[in-house]
Amino acid sequence: MTRPALPGQPGQPGQPLRLLIDGAWQAAASGALLDVTDPCTGDVIAQAAAGDAADIDAAVDAARRAFERGPWPAMKPAQRARLLWRLAELIDQHADELAALETLNTGKPLKMARMFDVALSAECLRYHAGWCTKLSGETRATSLPGEWHTYTLREPLGVAGLIVPWNVPLPMAVGKIAPALAAGCTAVLKPAELTPLTAVRLGELIVEAGFPPGVVNIVTGLGTTAGQALVDHPGVDKLSFTGSTAVGQRILASAAGNLKRLSLELGGKSPVFIFPDADLERATDAAARGIFANAGQVCAAGSRLFVHESVFERVVQGVADRARRLRVAPGHLPESEMGPLISQRQRERVLAYVAGGIAEGADVLTGGAALPGAGYFMQPTVMARTRADMALVREEIFGPVLSTFAFGDEEELDTLAARGNDTAYGLSASVWTRDLSRAHRMARRLKAGNIRVNAAVAPDFAMPFGGMKLSGWGRENGREGVESFTELKSVAIDLNP
Ligand code: NAD
Repeated sequence: MTRPALPGQPGQPGQPLRLLIDGAWQAAASGALLDVTDPCTGDVIAQAAAGDAADIDAAVDAARRAFERGPWPAMKPAQRARLLWRLAELIDQHADELAALETLNTGKPLKMARMFDVALSAECLRYHAGWCTKLSGETRATSLPGEWHTYTLREPLGVAGLIVPWNVPLPMAVGKIAPALAAGCTAVLKPAELTPLTAVRLGELIVEAGFPPGVVNIVTGLGTTAGQALVDHPGVDKLSFTGSTAVGQRILASAAGNLKRLSLELGGKSPVFIFPDADLERATDAAARGIFANAGQVCAAGSRLFVHESVFERVVQGVADRARRLRVAPGHLPESEMGPLISQRQRERVLAYVAGGIAEGADVLTGGAALPGAGYFMQPTVMARTRADMALVREEIFGPVLSTFAFGDEEELDTLAARGNDTAYGLSASVWTRDLSRAHRMARRLKAGNIRVNAAVAPDFAMPFGGMKLSGWGRENGREGVESFTELKSVAIDLNP
């Protein structure tokens, strides 16, 4: 892979990435910069503007103007749909370049960036383009005395603040921009400080697609400055956040000021159940992919594996064998199947959970260590003799570390589901069995927003995605996701004035 040109600096190689505010590229008001690092080497590969409250102010003002005046509010839904579709086409046209940038910034395998991050981003825009022309209110049957025409109007909420994490930077940014724009909102996006490259390139494509100035503004910067300023801003009507539960809880408190609408997509500690009647090869493959894909840095990663005792050895050894065979290497190398963790800090955090688990009596079946040399690589890890009270099992690790548990025939589904539900999170769960009744009964008992049966968690834009308990508030995707960027107004007209 040849190193891709960096975005945000047309004609000015070596210049820092800039902020997109009101359709123009600019430096942070303070002039401050953030280093952007390649996690495969630890080298600084770019610098990005470190926006703060002043830049967020300017971006929110631009988004407000674009929402209230100018071409955007006058645009028909079908015109908005065409713009979103056009952006999808531009993403397709620049797919190789976007994938290379995503790989450069995250270290993930290039083929995964191409097949997953980039392809899904284009698909997400197409899906949401379809909603532009389908959002509407409805007439209601009233029981008021007299003759009435009563109906609801579904209207865009206004200015949307969008804050995203670093694990799948492009799909995260697009996944928030697409429904916000489909609903008719304008937006201020704050990408994760570690991964601004594809977000800034997306901004260039948004300008090229012909979105009016101020409809999408992009402010790179730290969470504690730019992110916090967006959360606190009284000019933001809706805040959609994806990230850690700890930051989500802080956001909840700070958003109280103007009671801005909130969507929170937070952490997970998702269980996978494998019953002996399942297709064990497929289930074992999916269990391995479910925890090692993207080096485990996936909110819905299946990090707790429950296997029936009669097939426990076979399945768990199967996952461990796949872990040993997985080629861990920089994402731009063709052989790479798993890249590094995003930062030194993240790798230390993950390794500390493994060490803590060992200290509490768990065994390492395979992996458990950092890889020597440059970058933040670690071995895919399978743990045995894990117990429900260990921090390793209770807390979200966000790394390639699997805890394993056996269950027996004597366990009722209620008890087994309760073991799966024994977590503060409730994002996703999967069940592998060919017994239909057992599959349905487990799906009802599991407290998670997304259940898959005989399948790994795969995004589908028609299906609402989101969590229960500490995994968040609200749903993205589907009608529910796009409607979360709208407000409902009820109108009652007395027809005999
Ligand atoms: P994080 O919470 O540290 O950061 C997420 C974003 O919030 C970043 O852009 C960051 O700059 C910003 N931020 C940080 N502090 C802020 C503050 N005080 N105010 C406003 N913004 C602030 O999370 P992370 O480490 O980047 O990402 C990993 C986490 O994201 C994991 O917990 C993972 O489960 C979660 N995640 C959830 C989903 C989901 O859909 N549920 C998807 C992906 C990741």
